[in-house]
Amino acid sequence: RLILGIESSCDETGVGIVRLGPDGALELLADEVASSVEEHARFGGVVPEVASRAHLEAMVPTMRRAVEQAGIALSDIHSVAVTAGPGLAGALLVGVAAAKAYAAALDKPLYGVNHLAGHVAADTLQHGPLPKRCVALLVSGGHSQLLLVEGLADRITEIGSTVDDAAGEAYDKVARLLDLPYPGGPPIDRLAKQGNGCAIAFPRGLTGPRDSKYDFSFSGLKTSVARWVEKQERAGEEIPLADVAASFQEAVADVLTAKAIRACKDLGVDTLVISGGVAANSRLSGLAAERCAAAGIGLRVPKPRLCTDNGAMIAALGAHLVAAGAKPSPMDLSTVPGLPVGTVQIR
Ligand code: ATP
Ligand code: MG
Ligand code: FE
Repeated sequence: RLILGIESSCDETGVGIVRLGPDGALELLADEVASSVEEHARFGGVVPEVASRAHLEAMVPTMRRAVEQAGIALSDIHSVAVTAGPGLAGALLVGVAAAKAYAAALDKPLYGVNHLAGHVAADTLQHGPLPKRCVALLVSGGHSQLLLVEGLADRITEIGSTVDDAAGEAYDKVARLLDLPYPGGPPIDRLAKQGNGCAIAFPRGLTGPRDSKYDFSFSGLKTSVARWVEKQERAGEEIPLADVAASFQEAVADVLTAKAIRACKDLGVDTLVISGGVAANSRLSGLAAERCAAAGIGLRVPKPRLCTDNGAMIAALGAHLVAAGAKPSPMDLSTVPGLPVGTVQIR
């Protein structure tokens, strides 16, 4: 059974095609992504209207490339999965309208799914099925959450989340402060490799004894980096960019991994999955690997291409729903820009 996945929640137009085997195994046949990120770069963030228009232009060509890459005919598709939320309202509409059109034209079932659950599902394309229970650390441009996953199709529970900025948002804001390009994750990651992560002791948000165990806070960290840089400038000192990047990155990776491992231990879970765009960060995966090994926890981090937004992860989540025997979504399904992570599918 071939599952088509369509993603358009932010600035990536993604189309993926996954084969669901009789034993439930997934095989990735196509993963095509068109990004409008360069059009947003000069604004330092995604401009919703620009993103919607770019999706409209990219959708059909991206679909054509995916079908060609998979070497299939569109009529071979068994089901169509699409991101229904969370995301930008106008951007989501383009993907959902396209998915409805393909599902109607092919007379196939439609599954409106959750983008965040899709990020977690991406890992199953690389590492196979998830164990019965696992903790997922979902860190992306708009979200930072700890999830207990007891079934991708219907049992995802949020156990913690950021109280202010998302981890990716903090990367993007700190990059702007350091005059690095948008999106900020990749350039900070590169620069940090030449710096010392212990050079500056930036604060670890919400790690006091009375603080919530599984929630995150990154806005204080961002402010602290800003103050530190201003102070250096006022003193006429040069800014050691690589050390600032490395020390900021260390603070983020430290808090994320410490809380994720604590959740695993408290819940008696032996597998941690890290997903979302920030999972592509080299220090986050490196530190998580060290700490998970020390704690006897198995770590799963998909390759960077599967961490950032793509259609393959949506196809993968659709395949898990089909495998679980989930009923399709209604053909008049609406987009839900604020969809909570626990709602895996729109029914
Ligand atoms: P959401 O999934 O919450 O709706 P989104 O889809 O925009 O948000 P993703 O595409 O999953 O987010 O991730 C984009 C974010 O990942 C950006 O903030 C970017 O800076 C960050 N990012 C990408 N690569 C890296 C990296 N190597 N290190 C740190 N952050 C990174
Ligand atoms: Mg993006
Ligand atoms: Fe995303």
